[in-house]
Amino acid sequence: MTKPSAAARSGGWLAHARESDWPETTTERSEVIVAPTAENEKQLIESLRTGLFIDGAWRDSSNGKTFDVEDPATAKVLTTVADATPEDGQAALTAAHAAQKSWGATAPRERAEILRRAFETVTARADDFALLMTLEMGKPLAEARGEVTYGAEFLRWFSEEAARISGRYAIAPDGKARLMVHKRPVGPSLFITPWNFPLAMATRKIAPAIAAGCTMVVKPATMTPLTTLLFASVLEEVGLPAGVLNVIPTTTAGKVTGPLIKDERLRKLSFTGSTEVGRSLLRDAADQVLRTSMELGGNAPFLVFEDADLDSAVDGAMLAKMRNMGEACTAANRFIVHESVADEFTSRLAERMGSLTVKRGTEQDAEVGPLIDNGSREKVQELVDDAVSKGAKVHTGGQPHDGAGYFYPPTVLGGVTRGARILDEEVFGPVAPVATFTDEDEAVAMANDTEFGLVAYAYTRDVNRTLRLADTMESGMLGINVGVVSNPAAPFGGVKQSGLGREGGFEGIEEFLETKYVGLSDPFSDQQKA
Ligand code: NAP
Repeated sequence: MTKPSAAARSGGWLAHARESDWPETTTERSEVIVAPTAENEKQLIESLRTGLFIDGAWRDSSNGKTFDVEDPATAKVLTTVADATPEDGQAALTAAHAAQKSWGATAPRERAEILRRAFETVTARADDFALLMTLEMGKPLAEARGEVTYGAEFLRWFSEEAARISGRYAIAPDGKARLMVHKRPVGPSLFITPWNFPLAMATRKIAPAIAAGCTMVVKPATMTPLTTLLFASVLEEVGLPAGVLNVIPTTTAGKVTGPLIKDERLRKLSFTGSTEVGRSLLRDAADQVLRTSMELGGNAPFLVFEDADLDSAVDGAMLAKMRNMGEACTAANRFIVHESVADEFTSRLAERMGSLTVKRGTEQDAEVGPLIDNGSREKVQELVDDAVSKGAKVHTGGQPHDGAGYFYPPTVLGGVTRGARILDEEVFGPVAPVATFTDEDEAVAMANDTEFGLVAYAYTRDVNRTLRLADTMESGMLGINVGVVSNPAAPFGGVKQSGLGREGGFEGIEEFLETKYVGLSDPFSDQQKA
């Protein structure tokens, strides 16, 4: 339930919203979202801190410059944000480095309690976070509420993990030496985050870093810095010491973060974004053999076998495709459907996708918001046109909306043939291309025929097939008869060119811990000498 204080702060416009589970947020909406007024939006935007957050203080950029943040539904400017320079980047790393020693020495319980208070504050202010994400990123309010729940869960999960960091003590195999293994914080870390999940992509890195005792510098995406800034003010409010978190929005990402990656005070780089940028950051990180976590692009196959429950396959497809308007690294990018059920699956999916309401995400019945910018929309159209020129049939959608904002209609393409770019490239939009297969070997070969390997989905009722797929699919994650796999308690991440490392689960905190081994002499050696 919405807490009274939060409802009062945001004018009560979400009074009927319910806390929804992440997987339920896209298509099955039973909650009634009350649209915020223009005054609610204005109040929220005016209440934000829009400076750089360095060493516990809010400040202007060193050259006084700012940049605009736009609402993708209207193409109008929401507000302006301080634009960090390379000098500001240095100041942020200096603050993180100075705070590391004392922060790394805090009691795990103290770090856990800061995270717990942050979880409670973000949850209490869910209305504000949801509206802000809708305004700067475009997703419908109900989905933004889902992201607040999901993003806040990383704070709760890692508050619980902070106190469970442990090591081991063992007797060496020859019975003589003793082996002690313990964990230490990696040290000052740099986080570079994308625009598509403004809260969750930040908390998925910040929460385990806090739990492990690392300090950090965060560079949020230029298109969506506001949510990270609001989250920084929450961490300030709940008592995170100065210098532990530093936030530096900038329009010159490479110039500001490049020198930090080469600076020996930095010990870890965690990036979420495109494979192209990830590759170039990995090259830079090689110079000082920096520890890296890379959450990169995807090209998720969604397999529908002949024995699938088609009702649930279509439900799952709606989630896997339409969550976040398709702007998710986990979005189903290619539907690979057995030829015996392909026509029925395609027409049912087209009917469901064609009936979704495309509107500004703040409006009451909005189910699909705008894409992030015009460049993204043009890329989506290019991929659709290419597939059609190679023989695909448009079942619904296929042409952009007129008017303000970067809207694109939910689109289903049938009979997509190999060679169409849409089967190889990340669509990042509400377009579902359907291709067919004849047997399991072909389906798996098609699914694995990509340099990416983040997630795959499969619908089948055959238990042995499920177990075979768990072995044969080349992906870090596999969803069986589900359209969403993300869960703060599970390790999120990819294989192949989808990345390195894992976020969430028991694995998530390990990314921020060094393993230290201490060799000890035989404690009985004195007695043996005597
Ligand atoms: P992007 O263009 O790679 O940008 C991601 C972040 O990197 C942004 O903060 C961006 O800053 C920054 N950046 C860009 N060039 C840089 C450079 N040379 N040096 C340092 N930083 C740089 O990706 P995006 O368009 O924001 O996000 C979409 C991509 O993210 C998709 O490929 C998606 O699959 C992937 N993604 C992956 C996951 C995952 O967990 N695997 C999750 C979400 C998204 P600016 O904003 O200033 O450009």
